[in-house]
Amino acid sequence: MARKCPQCGELMEEGFKFTGAGGNVIRKKGFNMKSLYPEAAVCMHCGEISIYVDAEKLDKLKD
Ligand SMILES: [Zn+2]
Repeated sequence: MARKCPQCGELMEEGFKFTGAGGNVIRKKGFNMKSLYPEAAVCMHCGEISIYVDAEKLDKLKD
């Protein structure tokens, strides 16, 4: 399940959280995206950052 770096192919370190006053929720009309906070994976090899949403939390979209 580990994310592979799109730039160099190394495995990425996952689970980085965005900090800030609740401004990181992503929204789109037509989707129930309450509490859908993105997380980031960082490639320790080349510095690439990938933003993703935890698969578990994707279930909240389907309400
Ligand atoms: Zn990389």
